[in-house]
Amino acid sequence: MSTGKGDIELAGVAKSYDGSTYAVDGINLKIPDGAYCCLLGPSGCGKSTILRMIAGHEDPTVGEILIGGEDVVGLDPVERRTAMMFQSYALFPHLSVRDNIAFALRVRGMAKGARDDKVDAMIEKVQLGEFANRLPAQLSGGQQQRVALARAAITEPRVLLLDEPLSALDEHLRIKMRAELSRMQRDLGITFIHVTHTQMEAIALADMVVVMDKGQIRQAAPAPEVYARPRDRYVAEFIGGQNVLSGTIGQVNGVRATLAGARFSAINIPIVQSRRLESGQMLDIAVRRDDIDLLRPGGAGVPEGSTAIEGSVIGVEYQGNFVKVMLEAGGEDEFVAYVPERRFFEDALSIGDRVLAVWQIDHAHLLA
Ligand code: ADP
Repeated sequence: MSTGKGDIELAGVAKSYDGSTYAVDGINLKIPDGAYCCLLGPSGCGKSTILRMIAGHEDPTVGEILIGGEDVVGLDPVERRTAMMFQSYALFPHLSVRDNIAFALRVRGMAKGARDDKVDAMIEKVQLGEFANRLPAQLSGGQQQRVALARAAITEPRVLLLDEPLSALDEHLRIKMRAELSRMQRDLGITFIHVTHTQMEAIALADMVVVMDKGQIRQAAPAPEVYARPRDRYVAEFIGGQNVLSGTIGQVNGVRATLAGARFSAINIPIVQSRRLESGQMLDIAVRRDDIDLLRPGGAGVPEGSTAIEGSVIGVEYQGNFVKVMLEAGGEDEFVAYVPERRFFEDALSIGDRVLAVWQIDHAHLLA
């Protein structure tokens, strides 16, 4: 039964366009009503395929799609009460802001009086009053985005789907429009599903980030969780901000284990309840770049409760509020520390310096 709500469930969904390869496979996902959900992943991983299947522009090869508890497979977008906002906004260039927004209601045959009332209310909601009679070409990129949103929202969809809505904008406008999308979503109070390949965009906007890779979901969780507790190496590396170390578990005692890698000697790692660690097992761990402190070897040593690897500085980049220090240490990839600016300049490091990269044992995160 439909509840009229915009909660979405995909169960066992797969889609093949050609009958042999799968664009997405094994998709199980629940998105709560009123959530801002971002589908995030590299080009070709299947984000738009999922979006189009929820919208009603494609149907799955197998699996169920429920909106508000109702199976919507086979229904068109109007019956599903979904609306899509495209990257280019696709506004009608010869129609005013007002007529662009009214368009879907006219097509549906709504009487002029009722239509005008709804359009006026929407124009006010998106703060376009003074621009109502302008043509799209006479608006800024941000105002055009608001018209596109208003035009999609006027049909009172349960779910608004946005396909790379910010990718055509320059960096400055993108950040401004990002805040505006977030505000609009709160005002409208409906479920937004937003496709992006930009990590920071997803993290800044989403209540729920769905990280995808090659047609599958790797992790679906609130933004702070995918950032701070990525499920596996792929998510950690794709989201960024982490150092990933691979090694073999040595000793395991009650609260700590040791891990040794090809390019670092044994470090201490935490034992967490949810994971059984055994000596000899391979393991990946992630350590946040902003959890690393850099010390000179031969100083006070590694503090109690911390662990360290040693390396050489191979790069220093000033970033304003922090300094990015790149080390040759730990693994194949460079090991990176984000050192607060003031802390860095207390004893500035130079390329070639030997350092200990130190972190609290409990701050390391075990990857699947
Ligand atoms: P993304 O949005 O993450 O870039 P897509 O969902 O567009 O990914 O594409 C996923 C895979 O499905 C890709 O391999 C792509 O080439 C393929 N694909 C997408 N749309 C079609 C289509 N209409 N016909 C055939 N293959 C398609």
